[in-house]
Amino acid sequence: MNKIGVLTSGGDSPGMNAAIRAVVRKAIFHDIEVYGVYGGFAGLINGNIKRLGLGSVGDIIHRGGTMLQSARCAEFKTKEGQMKGIEQMREHGIEGLVVIGGDGSYRGAKALTELGFPCVGVPGTIDNDIPGTEFTIGFDTALNTVIDAIDKIRDTASSHERTFIIEVMGRDAGDIALWAGLAGGAETILIPEENYEMDDIADKLHRGNERGKKHSIIVVAEGVCSGVEFARKLKEAANIDTRISVLGHMQRGGSPTAADRVLASRLGARAVELLLDGQGGRAVGIERNRLVDYDIIEAIEEKKHVLDLDLYKLSQELSI
Ligand code: ADP
Repeated sequence: MNKIGVLTSGGDSPGMNAAIRAVVRKAIFHDIEVYGVYGGFAGLINGNIKRLGLGSVGDIIHRGGTMLQSARCAEFKTKEGQMKGIEQMREHGIEGLVVIGGDGSYRGAKALTELGFPCVGVPGTIDNDIPGTEFTIGFDTALNTVIDAIDKIRDTASSHERTFIIEVMGRDAGDIALWAGLAGGAETILIPEENYEMDDIADKLHRGNERGKKHSIIVVAEGVCSGVEFARKLKEAANIDTRISVLGHMQRGGSPTAADRVLASRLGARAVELLLDGQGGRAVGIERNRLVDYDIIEAIEEKKHVLDLDLYKLSQELSI
């Protein structure tokens, strides 16, 4: 393999730039040319492809977002769209592709692989919802953004003796809510993986009040319901007034943490090694701090992301 491509796709996440940098530098280290595909799979179809030199990825390791831009592209879900993408890569002499993104992007990479074009997936999403890896690039940064917000909200919550509901992202996964709730000392954490009893939540808030607690923080994962909806239910069920804070897209931005930069560097470089080794159709991940790789098709169709339920239990024990 002499030339490879790299693209970022789907929702962006902090650390994608560090992953791009790792792909480019690792490839050049092995005398391989690298081409950046701008604008995800849409850019692939349109041939928005440019050679990336060593300097092109300078000064990006600390920046959020993605220098290659990202996009959602419905056309790429069709075989015609995928064939156009392959055609563009063949015209540029590209023989393998690193796809940095979430599970939707993995499906795109899987489709290309099934059409005979080798791709390696790198897990980039704040949601931490990709099967086959304990952590995804951007999750740690998003967590730190959320706990920074929780800490600030806690200050005002205690001044006014208020109960706050903080809605966080995560799509169908509760990882951001769970980890940030635990790290931020939230009284209650609602995640889509576990049911909740409104009576238990109300009892805990009342007990806290009686003990003289000045504030309460409830973290709600977007996969459960919106913060507004939960506030309405809590008011109806227990006549408890709350304030709501929806953190939204700020969770997707910001300078990546050291942990995300290191993870992105390791995973990006490993993806290049696999392509050089002639191994397409793989996805890379991290398990017990070791790099792993697995069949990208199997990953999507058979594996399932599992939330750490021990951590959930612990969060409950620590917030009685
Ligand atoms: P994420 O990668 O963050 O999960 P999306 O689910 O939006 O984001 O997927 C990103 C892009 O991946 C889509 O816009 C589309 O171009 C491509 N994609 C998603 N699903 C498929 C599929 N089944 N086949 C081919 N490409 C897909």
